[in-house]
Amino acid sequence: MYDFSYHKPKTLADAATALAGKDEARALAGGMTLIPTLKQRLAKPSDVVDLGALKDLAGIKIDGDNVVIGAMTKHGDVASSDDVKNAIPALAELASLIGDPAVRNRGTIGGSIANNDPAADYPAAVLALNATITSTSGKYKADEFFKGLFETALKDGELVTSVSFPKVEKAGYMKFRNPASRYAMVGVFVAKGKDGVRVAVTGAGPCVFRVKAMEEALSKDFSSAAIKDIKIPADGLNSDIHGSAEYRAHLVGVMARRAVDAANK
Ligand SMILES: Cc1cc2nc3c(=O)[nH]c(=O)nc-3n(C[C@H](O)[C@H](O)[C@H](O)COP(=O)(O)OP(=O)(O)OC[C@H]3O[C@@H](n4cnc5c(N)ncnc54)[C@H](O)[C@@H]3O)c2cc1C
Repeated sequence: MYDFSYHKPKTLADAATALAGKDEARALAGGMTLIPTLKQRLAKPSDVVDLGALKDLAGIKIDGDNVVIGAMTKHGDVASSDDVKNAIPALAELASLIGDPAVRNRGTIGGSIANNDPAADYPAAVLALNATITSTSGKYKADEFFKGLFETALKDGELVTSVSFPKVEKAGYMKFRNPASRYAMVGVFVAKGKDGVRVAVTGAGPCVFRVKAMEEALSKDFSSAAIKDIKIPADGLNSDIHGSAEYRAHLVGVMARRAVDAANK
């Protein structure tokens, strides 16, 4: 049987208090990951802190050269936002490719990046766009946020409140989907902006990662031809019933070239 205390705080401060000092307390956002995990008895939280009443955590705004997305903003709202489509069309496109309509209408960006599933889409955009994550404790740059398999820099009880994406000159995202779950077998986000060219890969390894060789080549020539000879080593990549590490390594090259072509359109 489920055996936890349920809380539905009305303020962020009350949510932080409900989570504080409890190692086994869990925040509940869209529930698209947490609820199945509970159903499969893979988690046994002492407390579930429902963020659903924290309306200030949802929404999208333009702040100078940044698109700021509240943690409780649903994937569907990012996909359909005119602000996102105008500022960073590839980010809206990425959100439109997550799961199915039910997942997009419940799942949130905060839940996705806090969960840091190795095959999730948003981590690739956060890393390639060099986004800044704001939490109840401070700010993280993308390069320091994603630590490993389902692991981030967040500490127990710390909540993501928003993600700020700088507008870029060009960006593209391509993913080869698992046809059943729609998660990324491999997804590659490519961005060219004031921070240079950044290439981030999801789905291929235990955690989202950058491909420096591609970034260097694309910095000199932002075309898919510039990276056609770059081979990704299969060492350390995921290998499972859906595809071998070698297959995923090959897909990184294919998806990266397609993402560059999409960014150049
Ligand atoms: C059938 C299916 C298909 C899917 N396909 C895809 C896909 O193609 N691509 C993809 O990227 N994802 C996919 N997902 C995952 C989906 O995007 C989820 O929305 C996401 O993983 C978790 O977001 P959530 O808001 O539902 O979080 P929840 O399930 O509520 O929470 C997930 C975890 O994050 C923590 N958390 C939630 N919000 C916060 C916060 N603000 N701060 C700190 N911690 C927080 C929770 O405590 C929990 O540990 C799929 C899910 C399903 C069920």
